[in-house]
Amino acid sequence: MSYRVTLIPGDGIGPEISEATTRVMDATGVSIEWEVMEAGEKILEQCGTPLPDTVCESVRRNGVALKGPLTTPVGRGFRSVNVALRQELHLFANQRPARNRPGVPSRYQDVDLVVVRENTEDLYAGIEHWVGKDAAESIKIITREASERIARFAFDLARRSGRKKVTCVHKANIMKLSDGLFLECAREVAGEYEDIQFGDMIVDAMCMKLVQSPADYDILLCPNLYGDILSDLCAGLVGGLGVAPSANIGEGCAVFEPVHGSAPRRAGQNVINPLAMILSGVMLLQHLGETEAAGRLEAAVDAVLTEGIHLTYDLGGHAGTSDMAEAIAARLRG
Ligand code: NAD
Repeated sequence: MSYRVTLIPGDGIGPEISEATTRVMDATGVSIEWEVMEAGEKILEQCGTPLPDTVCESVRRNGVALKGPLTTPVGRGFRSVNVALRQELHLFANQRPARNRPGVPSRYQDVDLVVVRENTEDLYAGIEHWVGKDAAESIKIITREASERIARFAFDLARRSGRKKVTCVHKANIMKLSDGLFLECAREVAGEYEDIQFGDMIVDAMCMKLVQSPADYDILLCPNLYGDILSDLCAGLVGGLGVAPSANIGEGCAVFEPVHGSAPRRAGQNVINPLAMILSGVMLLQHLGETEAAGRLEAAVDAVLTEGIHLTYDLGGHAGTSDMAEAIAARLRG
């Protein structure tokens, strides 16, 4: 069996971690033909757009993509390519697991949770405008269709992965209509899954609870903005952005990418931790049904972490990106 997978190396440190990730995934023995597609800042000048149509066409054709981070200018310039890609490809669910790994320093133990983030609407719908010169307005969109769909995704994920509880995160005490609708949909869908516990929590209280006792939580079901913020918080609970993978899942295709950004100041230095993208590769292999290879790759990552020799700076070591990848690949080759 051979697979064709779209590879979007991305901006900044993207090409370095993409090289590291394809090296270890190839070392699993799973036959993958990488269709490399450029997007982002670096092709903006050449193509006149940071997201050429050919990129989405490739992902649609192959059904699966591995993606490096893409730079988005802050407060100016083009719209986020990440958001555009998720909307264009209808990647409605963002799945961001956070769990402790051996050898990764963290203030907490026994964290094992998944942030399930609605990926297409909320304040990320991109409806913003000026009101006169000195005021600006952003519109938050929450629909029943998208809210029910993401709630079902979270409960199905709980069943598939043997998880016990879904907690809906919201601010329905203040945004009574929009977050109220999200919560109402989650409650209705929860009624269809009597084997899974359901609870809800206001987002500010959730932040406090997560830093007090993160091991109490399992699946967090969030609208787009809270999911974005909470998933970085959860990455911080288990050792930082360097070990935080994610999957964007749609009906016809899926895109796997690290949670972190393009870290432009570290680009080209061979110092960045490749594990967030490598662990996204583990999720990609699971998605393809290559569970045995995914398990071997994850075990090789954990073995290198436990050994503690080939670690990047963020994990307290001095190894380069490529050294860490090679140490993982060498374990896979036996
Ligand atoms: P960032 O995630 O790039 O960096 C934040 C901090 O974490 C920096 O100190 C960086 O050095 C460190 N860091 C990030 N990844 C690391 C890794 N793998 N190993 C070790 N340290 C790591 O966030 P930022 O600086 O806010 O954003 C930079 C750019 O990335 C922006 O243009 C932003 O829009 C973009 N971004 C893209 C995505 C994406 O493509 N999905 C996600 C987030 C941010």
